[in-house]
Amino acid sequence: MSIRKDFPILRTSENGKTITYLDSAATTQKPTSVIAAVDHYYRQQNSNIHRAAHHLADIATRAYEHARELCRDYIGAAETAEIIFTSGTTASINLVAQALTTSVKPGQTIVISELEHHSNIVPWQMLAERTGAQIEAIAITDEGDLDLADARVKIDSRCALVAITHISNGLGSINPVDEIIQLAKQQDALTLVDGAQAALHLDLDVQALDCDFYVFSGHKLFAPTGIGILYGKRRRLEELPPASGGGEMIEKVTLTKSTYQKPPFKFEPGTPNIAGAIGLGAAIEYINHIPKAELKTKEDALIEAALTGLQNMPEVRLVGRPQQRSAVISFLLEGAHPNDVGTLLDQQGVAVRTGHHCNMPLMDRLGIPGTVRASFSLYNNEQDVDALIAGVRKAATFL
Ligand code: PMP
Repeated sequence: MSIRKDFPILRTSENGKTITYLDSAATTQKPTSVIAAVDHYYRQQNSNIHRAAHHLADIATRAYEHARELCRDYIGAAETAEIIFTSGTTASINLVAQALTTSVKPGQTIVISELEHHSNIVPWQMLAERTGAQIEAIAITDEGDLDLADARVKIDSRCALVAITHISNGLGSINPVDEIIQLAKQQDALTLVDGAQAALHLDLDVQALDCDFYVFSGHKLFAPTGIGILYGKRRRLEELPPASGGGEMIEKVTLTKSTYQKPPFKFEPGTPNIAGAIGLGAAIEYINHIPKAELKTKEDALIEAALTGLQNMPEVRLVGRPQQRSAVISFLLEGAHPNDVGTLLDQQGVAVRTGHHCNMPLMDRLGIPGTVRASFSLYNNEQDVDALIAGVRKAATFL
């Protein structure tokens, strides 16, 4: 696969050197086709959508709605009414948490896990404060897997909602979300899956998963920043009140009362990120050309090679050994702060992420301040693994 050539940033650099980009879990680089789709929109299609009676507005509206259809198909949703455009995972989770304010009751629980990103913790804490509900967190094992026995205990009759990540951004653990969803359903609890890290790496079928909500950000799958998806089962979206009000989401407005549109428009007030949605559509078309199985085989081989290389260094301590791992490796160099390792790697042209990765409760659970995180995507190759290993070896001699 000569995929690298599709990503202009991987061919250019400020100092003449090419970058070893191992930070795709934070955001992916963008292929030419996505950049071109956004460029084309602003050059040839720019107009506000749904409202005007002119030709350009019709073109923009069709392009925007076509992107919605591409998203529906990508995650296996039944209808486009179930696909809401948001600004990303964080906004999608906040939307659901806000809309649930009147349905969650004091004494009920919102079940999350110790693996969650702050985006899938803080909005639920705010909801708990508003409603008198309590947060419960499913424990994890020292390897970084969900403790399913604890999940069976925590997801009980008090549970209003289970919000769980599909893949951990800190450790790469792939969670058995299907089992968790079934446990939640036995208690009539709602389910939300944070798919920020999974939407690119896993084959998604939200109908088979049977979750009520599935959320992800476009920028983690080659689309621009500022666009994301909230999938919700139609019945759930019809039950939920809108989280915010404004233009576009209404059916009729009087000075004292308004009635709302049906989903998805009920949840899309104001002018949306039209170019972002079109960019996300282009990103999905790009991904659809690459069989997921091929992507996984490639990523697995790179992860395996990187794990082997890191394990061969006595100074390296791997953080997390989940049973099923996606394209993320977290590690520490004994005696060195992760930020110093990151700086030394950066000096060698290797871009990784260091710190708590918006996983402070996870870092507390593991008793560490943070990690060095290398994350891979389909444009990475063996040379990137070699650069990482050589970089860490050199960092170890300095620190
Ligand atoms: N959840 C997970 C698992 C993530 O990895 C991220 C991004 N790091 C988020 C939520 C938040 O995504 P965003 O910042 O795009 O809203």
